Amino acid sequence: RGTPPDAFPPRSFRIFALTARYVADTNPKKINLGVGAYRDNNGKPWVLPVVKKASRKVEESDRDHEYLSITGLPPFTNAAQKLVFGEDSLPVKEKRIISVQTLSGTGANHLAALFMSRFYQFTKDKEIYISNPTWANHNAIISNVGLNPVSYPYYNPQTIGLDFEGFVKSIENMPEKSVILLHSCAHNPTGVDPTPEQWETLAELFVKKGHYAFFDSAYQGFATGDLDRDSSSVRLFASKRIPMLVCQSFAKNAGLYNERVGALHVVGASEDEAQRIKSQLSVLQRSEISNPPAYGACVVSLILTDPELFSEWKRDIKTMSSRIIEMRDQLYNKLQELKTPAPAGRSDWGHIKSQIGMFSFTGLNKAQCDSLVNNYSIYLTANGRISMAGLNTNNLQRFAECVDEVVR
Ligand code: PLP
Repeated sequence: RGTPPDAFPPRSFRIFALTARYVADTNPKKINLGVGAYRDNNGKPWVLPVVKKASRKVEESDRDHEYLSITGLPPFTNAAQKLVFGEDSLPVKEKRIISVQTLSGTGANHLAALFMSRFYQFTKDKEIYISNPTWANHNAIISNVGLNPVSYPYYNPQTIGLDFEGFVKSIENMPEKSVILLHSCAHNPTGVDPTPEQWETLAELFVKKGHYAFFDSAYQGFATGDLDRDSSSVRLFASKRIPMLVCQSFAKNAGLYNERVGALHVVGASEDEAQRIKSQLSVLQRSEISNPPAYGACVVSLILTDPELFSEWKRDIKTMSSRIIEMRDQLYNKLQELKTPAPAGRSDWGHIKSQIGMFSFTGLNKAQCDSLVNNYSIYLTANGRISMAGLNTNNLQRFAECVDEVVR
């Protein structure tokens, strides 16, 4: 039960160690495919044009630096709620959602786990079920608040795809009212998502078993380029009155990594319960951060509430997601052209194209990854995950050729 503690540095730190090695590397041909942050075609961080515009407006406004309220900036939390659930959402209309501004997605995950640890009536040993594999920080965040992270089958290394059968069987066998963490789209680290039909099956199972959905939404818009489509899993569950919460991040889709803009949305069974949840979340937040920072929330709030800025943001999101999809196509084509042997269990590299979002699970094994890092200055995690955003038209050919060499 649970996962044994990591050796130091813990798994969730290793990505930063990898970045430090990349920075120290003097090879001019080095490539960083480790960290999950968007890069433009020149390999540079990209400040979204809409964020530049909104930031200027925020700076020019005569805002003061008074504390925000404990639960954050209301125009931000209201708009963020509608962004993820949709305007016509049942719990939005019924005023059953409590939204609290958090320190980005990590803060939302933490506050959510803390809230569950205090108030959820667990049927068994305070277990939260997480996908195998998952974002490395989930384990630590959940353990930190005294809950037990337990893995459910998700990824099948043989097919480099979803182990849907194992996933479903595991959900069926969990005790009723289990808490299950789901990535709403663009699963990190695999890039493998359930299909809409599979989400339907999952939702039906949640209803049947009374499970609680703990959604992590860190990539809305990044997967398909369409904000609504990328939130369809959350909206489906909400429409079926499945008990749930959503951890939302604006780090990736607004490129606001270091501004720490996020929100936690907890859906109550009634408006009255939602108000009680709000009181409890406020008590927790007060002792943890007192109140959240204002700047990034002001920027996002402007973008979400000004129709012109909102349209521009959607175009910027499309720019990022389209470039990533284009890199998937080009990498696939290049590996085909080189006749690079596909990973074990696969006849080709099609998974690069079918996976979605920031990451791709290439199927490269640990020895091949180590060789790419140590012999070619290509930085990726040892599980074969690459950040597609690190590829561009200047380095893609070299990456494909190096992969071709290490797999032969
Ligand atoms: N959840 C997932 C699945 C992620 O991949 C990330 C970031 O990589 C986060 C949450 C949290 O990101 P942040 O705290 O920067 O919003």
